[in-house]
Amino acid sequence: MSHLVIALDGPAASGKGTLARKLAKHFNLALLDTGALYRAVGWSVLNDGGDPTSEKDAVKAAKNMGNIDLSNRELRTESIGAAASKVASMPAVRQLLVDFQRTFADNPPKDKDGTILDGRDIGTVICPDAQVKIFITAEVETRAKRRFLEEFGPKGTDQQYLNILADLKARDERDMTRSTSPLKLAENAHLIDTTNSDIEAVFEATRKYVSSVA
Ligand code: C5P
Repeated sequence: MSHLVIALDGPAASGKGTLARKLAKHFNLALLDTGALYRAVGWSVLNDGGDPTSEKDAVKAAKNMGNIDLSNRELRTESIGAAASKVASMPAVRQLLVDFQRTFADNPPKDKDGTILDGRDIGTVICPDAQVKIFITAEVETRAKRRFLEEFGPKGTDQQYLNILADLKARDERDMTRSTSPLKLAENAHLIDTTNSDIEAVFEATRKYVSSVA
């Protein structure tokens, strides 16, 4: 592979999406938000009145993934995130999405200099040979606060914050302990903790890191 591939992994609301967009723009890379694929499957199961813990329902939705608009704002809520993490724990669902992700990573459009994928298992399973692997994280309370402000704004209630915190903790637990492709630090990944840094500082540090290794 001659083009640059960046594998960016980390837990929910760690700042992955924003960092991925900034890196994609700076290094002229095609970006795939792989969480959106699992969100689309979870959303589709719920939309059809199915159960996200049913493998039959989840596999059916994953097979029809091509029909779902990945930019639909409805996919971004924490309740769809929870459904996504349930379907994502099923090996049969993951298997259906692997080829799509690898093909994306290996085939940047002609006007791009490479690809960047963000998710949970990009550095470990999808692109184990990526030149650049980054693992971004932050304390769960910080991540819950960010997601709470995104979803409810400054008028959100304490109870809404506590619900988001509980959902994120449950999602972390499911994503890190599942038997297939759990969220974990790839051996040679560069670790970034964003608990006390704003996104501009995180981007600047990561940009320097990528330039030094790519
Ligand atoms: O990153 P995002 O919060 O959009 O991901 C939603 C859910 O999809 C995650 O909680 C995780 O369970 C699942 N996911 C995954 N593998 C990926 C990307 C997302 O299991 N590569």
